[in-house]
Amino acid sequence: MLDRQALLQLSRFRHSERPVVTLYLKVDRTSSEPKHAIRLKNLLAEVEARRAEYGNAVWEGVQRDLERIATHVRDAYAQGAQHLAVFACGDELFETFSLPYELPNRIDLAPTPVLRPLFRQLQRYERYAAALVTQRMSRLFFVTPDNVEEVLTLEDEIPPRHDQGGWAQARLQRHHDEAVAHHLKRVADAIFELFQRRGFSGLVLFGTDEVTKALRGVLHPYVRDRVVAATPLDIAATTKDVGQLTLSLARERRRKRQQELLDLFEGEVHRQSGRAVGGLRQVIAAVQQGQVQALLLQEDYEASGGRCQQCGALTTQVSGPCDYCGGAVEKVADMVEPLVAKGFQQGAEVVFLTGRGAQRLQPFGGVGALLRFSP
Ligand SMILES: [Zn+2]
Repeated sequence: MLDRQALLQLSRFRHSERPVVTLYLKVDRTSSEPKHAIRLKNLLAEVEARRAEYGNAVWEGVQRDLERIATHVRDAYAQGAQHLAVFACGDELFETFSLPYELPNRIDLAPTPVLRPLFRQLQRYERYAAALVTQRMSRLFFVTPDNVEEVLTLEDEIPPRHDQGGWAQARLQRHHDEAVAHHLKRVADAIFELFQRRGFSGLVLFGTDEVTKALRGVLHPYVRDRVVAATPLDIAATTKDVGQLTLSLARERRRKRQQELLDLFEGEVHRQSGRAVGGLRQVIAAVQQGQVQALLLQEDYEASGGRCQQCGALTTQVSGPCDYCGGAVEKVADMVEPLVAKGFQQGAEVVFLTGRGAQRLQPFGGVGALLRFSP
């Protein structure tokens, strides 16, 4: 499953003797003629051209990885995959993802897995829960960009309200209210159980103002913090409608969040000891100190830099001794990879920006960070 944890683990993988093979491939499941087979053949030829860079034993290992990858691609096509990411390095690493979003077609032999295309996808690949709620019947959904699933329907007997006046009405009203509260508590428990079992980054509540407010009041605090929106919707809505609405509300929320972060960033970055820094050198320093709350990057941001082979520190240097420990610095072709991985390690939000948002980072060369504390 594609999530932060999986990518973080992959980012730490390294083999002392041989390179990691990374493959990204579009697989045409709708095409009768499997064009991906030609694409794969071309990519494998690219690797073949690098034969001279490796010794015989290492190369045999790479060949076995490539064979295993080709087999996986054939099986994935048969199973209806769309876009594949595969990472292989002998017995120690064979990890695959099948995603609904377009990835670049590429193959790499490198000391670590090439993760940038997946880092970029992660912010779109969030999972959501949606609860469609009334006083007596509720439906719970699990929503991802490529699938929506109705997980559970809960129905309770709710005594009707009466308008007879006097003590009888008061009692019936109380029975009614208690039964509704009981129903909503069951819904809240089911949502929390889903959260514990499968995890989700956001929750959308569908229903009248009255009922969604009451439900919000009994949600577990972890889950309440993840409510993205509450909006009316008919209890008989189709699963497909619930899925589409949930994703569009989530997208809207994400756009707003990006604006907020950029506003904060611009407000702080020009202030003396403000809680933000711009430019690669400063961002690297902040990441090194574990200070980053949000890492902001232009989608196509590119910069090379270096990493200490001894302590792992990142630097703008591409060689020479490490500032921290004096170890040898090795060149890193794409600094976005280690920056994002370190950002994840310190629990930072990582946001890739396009369009107007990306333009706002232009004065800082395309990269900035909001900090937890003033520097
Ligand atoms: Zn070092």
